[in-house]
Amino acid sequence: MLIVVCIKQVPDTTQVQIDPVTNTLVRDGIPFIVNPYDSHALEAALQLKDMFGFRVAAISMGPPNAEATLRKALALGVDQAILLSDRVFGGADTLATSNVLTRAVQLLNEKEEVGLVLCGKQTIDGDTAQVGPGIATRLGYVQLTLVDRIEQVDMLRKKITVRRKLEGRHEVVESPLPAMITVVRELNHPRYPTVPMRLNAIDAEIEVWNNDVLKLDVANIGLKGSPTWVSRIFSPEREKGEIVGDGLNDPIGSANLLIDKLLSKDLLAI
Ligand SMILES: Cc1cc2nc3c(=O)[nH]c(=O)nc-3n(C[C@H](O)[C@H](O)[C@H](O)COP(=O)(O)OP(=O)(O)OC[C@H]3O[C@@H](n4cnc5c(N)ncnc54)[C@H](O)[C@@H]3O)c2cc1C
Repeated sequence: MLIVVCIKQVPDTTQVQIDPVTNTLVRDGIPFIVNPYDSHALEAALQLKDMFGFRVAAISMGPPNAEATLRKALALGVDQAILLSDRVFGGADTLATSNVLTRAVQLLNEKEEVGLVLCGKQTIDGDTAQVGPGIATRLGYVQLTLVDRIEQVDMLRKKITVRRKLEGRHEVVESPLPAMITVVRELNHPRYPTVPMRLNAIDAEIEVWNNDVLKLDVANIGLKGSPTWVSRIFSPEREKGEIVGDGLNDPIGSANLLIDKLLSKDLLAI
């Protein structure tokens, strides 16, 4: 059985700024990282590989430099890494992205039965959490979102049991395979690659599939296949805070001033 992990290269958003003039993300000089949730998806796939001997393929849609993301996955132990890259894939919204990733899974499935597709819960740049469910819908797979524990994989019955992390409660669900799972951080602690594995990954092959391989109708991919677009991106304006007293030289006086202020606004009860 093949497990496919979808990993996206994202800018390290702790350092991303918004250009106030163009309202776009300033990406120049920003380091890229593997979307953190996808590292947990990758770890889950590798643990299943360790336990059951499944093969693991990592796929990523992105520009040529997204290869670095896949090389990290190779260093960690995936068996196959595929970069889905073509100019016609550019400008994709979540629907067009799902179409490309789905086609890649279908092509992989033609050679080896895909049992699981693993995705992160969401990305830290797009943040939509739509792509995983989008892939599941197109593949006709059961979708198990927000998974924080894989309880059991029963290969005889072709079933998987997972725990979903919901607000204030957990839900344990059994589902037939194949399935698509999106994972949360609590699922596991991602491993670090050993030095020999890093060295091996330097020369490991990363397949690049463009649209000559996927053969998707250009009306369903990239900008043309994207019915949604970002009309504006901005940081919410915040009121300037008020500095109460001189906390450095007179902390007690400042604390008293603050208490008086909170009392006067009925924000503090004594
Ligand atoms: C309205 C709209 C318009 C957009 N227009 C553009 C545009 O013009 N140009 C542009 O570059 N981007 C654009 N984007 C961003 C692009 O659509 C997203 O990067 C992409 O669809 C993934 O969405 P997301 O980041 O919200 O992923 P989520 O749905 O939050 O991701 C969930 C999971 O899906 C998987 N996944 C998501 N994306 C990928 C990927 N590329 N490869 C592999 N796995 C993946 C990962 O496992 C990830 O954890 C747009 C997004 C929106 C919402």
